[in-house]
Amino acid sequence: MDKQNPILILGAGTFGLSTAYHLAKAGYTNITILEKSVTFPPELSAGNDLNKIIRAEYEDPFYAELALEAIAAWKSPLFAPYYNETGYLLCNSAAAPEKSKKSLQKALSSISQRPVFRNKIIPISSRNDIRKVAPAFTGPMQWKGYFNSFAGYAAAADSLMAVYSACIALGVTIHLNSAVEALTYSGDICTGAITTAGKHYSAPITVLALGASLGSVLPQIKSQVVAKASPLAHIQLTPEEAIQLRGIPVTYARDLGFFFEPDRRTNLLKICPAMAGYTNYNTPFGLSLPPDDNAFIPAVDEAMIRRLLRETLPELADRPLVGRRVCWCADTADSEYVIDLVPGKKGLVVVTGDSAHAFKMLPIIGKWVKEVVEKGRQDNARWQWKEGSDAAAADISWRIGQTTDFKEVKDIRRDPEIAQARL
Ligand SMILES: Cc1cc2nc3c(=O)[nH]c(=O)nc-3n(C[C@H](O)[C@H](O)[C@H](O)COP(=O)(O)OP(=O)(O)OC[C@H]3O[C@@H](n4cnc5c(N)ncnc54)[C@H](O)[C@@H]3O)c2cc1C
Repeated sequence: MDKQNPILILGAGTFGLSTAYHLAKAGYTNITILEKSVTFPPELSAGNDLNKIIRAEYEDPFYAELALEAIAAWKSPLFAPYYNETGYLLCNSAAAPEKSKKSLQKALSSISQRPVFRNKIIPISSRNDIRKVAPAFTGPMQWKGYFNSFAGYAAAADSLMAVYSACIALGVTIHLNSAVEALTYSGDICTGAITTAGKHYSAPITVLALGASLGSVLPQIKSQVVAKASPLAHIQLTPEEAIQLRGIPVTYARDLGFFFEPDRRTNLLKICPAMAGYTNYNTPFGLSLPPDDNAFIPAVDEAMIRRLLRETLPELADRPLVGRRVCWCADTADSEYVIDLVPGKKGLVVVTGDSAHAFKMLPIIGKWVKEVVEKGRQDNARWQWKEGSDAAAADISWRIGQTTDFKEVKDIRRDPEIAQARL
């Protein structure tokens, strides 16, 4: 493939940015990204967040292997400033359902026999065990699970910013405020894309990296991926409170939710409640897609956050929640990514199906997209286009609870600050 030929990437989120970075590093000189968001990191990107878990345990050993490769890359010069190896406390509360316990056991067995985890895993069966790895936690925590010291979190928005700067330095052109309206074709050849402002960008290769919004531009993806939202919120800590929690492990009670060390710049404590994800089928495409307004979480999730805090940090359990929002991913039926050519369309590559576990792959994921662009096919059956698969019907083994559509959610609690700003 001629490295001077234009390559168009749609979406500057986790997948799109990593793709541009790997292509540019390999010598491709004519890469353009179109991104709908007005600012960077993109407000619509699932990766634009304070922090994300970086861990190698997976129910599926294939992804455990890839995550180990990613962790090594998180320690390379570009990414190391954003990776914090605080460890990972993965447990179930006493009330956890069987599904949650099974998921934890599978995750543990994907790493426990690997030499790199020797002396890194400590079983947890009591509050005392938890206090040994997280002395700042004062709650009752009758949890069981383990602590893995070879894991941690990434400062997510900051690391996206670093890749963005690296892409610019390598000559990638990134157009913000450039929402793609449609793809353009000549017969069965994709010739590029047209934005909602009517500007046409032409390229012999177009890579679709639109995250949860993919279906609005590529409706033929149909039920192969389903856009699913997860809620999150934060507590604003004082500098003194944040220091008390400095160095705590990423803490995940599979059936309650997870939280991180407070952000070192803002002192915000980010918390995600456990739940199976929300859909939004109230769209013109008949597909679940993200709505425009995402600055809210349902009351049931707020209650779950407070329950998690009562178990761990009860002194924070009644504090106001700020920065409430729902964050959108693209689930597949088997939680496998899809990195392939779109069947019947020449020059059109799709990278999707992040299934809420792709941020950790930011340093390496673009390498796999580059291979597909260069070979013109996907050899790994796991990541091929799977016509007819139905992500909405699947019972995802690691998602605990029932997926709910937003039209069934009555008590939506909006972020008071954002609601005020809108008045
Ligand atoms: C609450 C939450 C917690 C998570 N925690 C973790 C974690 O701890 N660890 C982990 O590994 N992963 C985590 N993830 C998953 C991770 O964030 C995603 O897997 C990853 O960010 C998906 O990348 P993407 O490129 O597919 O989508 P995105 O990053 O969402 O990128 C899609 C981009 O396309 C743009 N776009 C959309 N429509 C258009 C259009 N029409 N024209 C142009 N641009 C458009 C969007 O603005 C966006 O920038 C989490 C996700 C959520 C929601």
